[in-house]
Amino acid sequence: MSDLPLLRFLRQCHGEFSQNSTGALADYIPELTKADPAHFGICVATVDGYVHEMGDSRVPFTIQSISKAFVFAMALETIGAEKVETTIGVEPSGEAFNSIRLNGTNRPFNPMVNAGAIACTGLFCESGGDDAFERILQGLSRFAGRPLDYDRAVFESERATGDRNRAIAYLLRTHGVLRCEVDTALAVYFRQCAVQVTARDLSIMAATLANNGVNPMTGETVLSPYVVARTLSVMLSSGMYDYAGEWGYRVGIPAKSGVGGGIVATLPAQLGLGIYSPLLNGHGHSVRGVQTCEALSSHFDLHLLNRVADVRTCVAAACDLGGVSSRRNRQPAEQAILDAHQTSCVVLELVGAIGFGDMEYISRRLIESQSRATHAIVDFRRVSAISKAAARLLGDSLDGIAAADLTVTLCGTAHLAGLSAAVDSWLGRVPRLRKAARLDEAIEWVEDQIIYLDGGYDRLHEQITLGEQSLLEGLSAADTETLAAMSDRRHFEPGERIIAANEVARSILFISRGMVSVKLPSGVRLATLVAGMTVGEMALLETHRSADVWADTRVDCLELPLDAYARFRASHPQASERIVLNLAALLSRKLIVANRKIDALTSS
Ligand code: GLN
Repeated sequence: MSDLPLLRFLRQCHGEFSQNSTGALADYIPELTKADPAHFGICVATVDGYVHEMGDSRVPFTIQSISKAFVFAMALETIGAEKVETTIGVEPSGEAFNSIRLNGTNRPFNPMVNAGAIACTGLFCESGGDDAFERILQGLSRFAGRPLDYDRAVFESERATGDRNRAIAYLLRTHGVLRCEVDTALAVYFRQCAVQVTARDLSIMAATLANNGVNPMTGETVLSPYVVARTLSVMLSSGMYDYAGEWGYRVGIPAKSGVGGGIVATLPAQLGLGIYSPLLNGHGHSVRGVQTCEALSSHFDLHLLNRVADVRTCVAAACDLGGVSSRRNRQPAEQAILDAHQTSCVVLELVGAIGFGDMEYISRRLIESQSRATHAIVDFRRVSAISKAAARLLGDSLDGIAAADLTVTLCGTAHLAGLSAAVDSWLGRVPRLRKAARLDEAIEWVEDQIIYLDGGYDRLHEQITLGEQSLLEGLSAADTETLAAMSDRRHFEPGERIIAANEVARSILFISRGMVSVKLPSGVRLATLVAGMTVGEMALLETHRSADVWADTRVDCLELPLDAYARFRASHPQASERIVLNLAALLSRKLIVANRKIDALTSS
């Protein structure tokens, strides 16, 4: 894995920017001057849990102000949005991180500057008492996916020299924003700033935000989507203090820096970035960290507002009944009805993560289909996630569609937590809405509707003679009688296995009454066959059975043993040739259907 293009680029950045020794170590916290100015680590963590590491990616340093973003998120999540939002503003201050100034209503401008962060930590002290730091440390550890600790020396050093933060805290207390003791809040705040992390940790913490609040390494859900979006929003508007506007314009990735030399940046749904290099510029940001973010963003075009998504790709396949059919094989008269009504049903197979724009497109396609179709099937089986907005828009569109004469079946929604409960609630309200577990089942139901509404009839329980079997088409009555005489009558009850996969194939079965299903051992249905059709005819070509066959109803068949058929072939060469041709024709029809299906899936 050493030659991944992203890693190659990180190596290039590392090589180039490590030459840059401009900037200075933070010295207002004396202990921070002990950092090695040469250290430089870059990590990119992806939302599927892969970490690209370059340079000093595992060197520990103190998190400092980067903690502000995560503690704010934890406050929103655990203390509650209302309390947090009434205590701290979300407006950029345009000032340095340590500005001793509040907004017009005497609240901190935002949670990314010291005033807002100290107020936020104060909320933990108020609600958590003595446990406040423990809660914060555990929360930060959940983002990092490993237990973190704090650097006692840096903590003591900042506590000894942190008068500016004391001034801010007293100002907050004067205005009732900070309701606990100044020393209590600052003891927690200074510890929180002294938590030790590595560039690798930061990238995973950022990737947890990128992954909608789920830590991609541990799978733990740390934040709700509401909190993720709010946290990223203040990171983008204020995470880089008085450089935030420039940062948003040039880099366009929500980020947060710390005077320890770290930077985190989160590109939603894509990646988390963690950088460490302790030489700082005049804004208090890592010089090489800023350079790396700028280079990454411009080289790979990562600006958040630069989107390439195309909503049309969410429909993986769109077809009618000419393109897909259920696995239930139809008798010729039924198939003729389906062929004549191919356009009556629209099938949309969706794929990927469905957002608002995607659903707007899907619902338009559904509404358009009303003019030619009476049925629409939407398959969500390959949808990985659906946003709340998209689910709501689908619900609203179905209300309109229900007024028209279109029956909509939604299938494969069970794995989508946000959608499946909503579907159940719509079912009670939307008259022509149905749900199905699987696409095949949904198509079969629509085919049944079309066939029987059009006067098709059900020959399931009629006895069909050997002469009507497709495999024996074109044989003389005498020949079919000979075959009938060579066959044994068999009867099966519903649920009985007729053929077992992997057994030696010794016969061909002609179904004369009832319905059977061919299934894989996993239970997946390959085909459903009815009277007039043959099972096990592959015995003419293969030595072993390829799947199980089960009786769905009471089934009568005629079983022709292969050795009897061998005798027939010797005495009736012409009829046998006809049977082989019929078999070839049946297989060729199956191949045509399979190819159409593959085509519908691979071109849309
Ligand atoms: N502990 C530092 C302070 O409050 C954090 C500042 C920063 O990283 N920008 O001064």
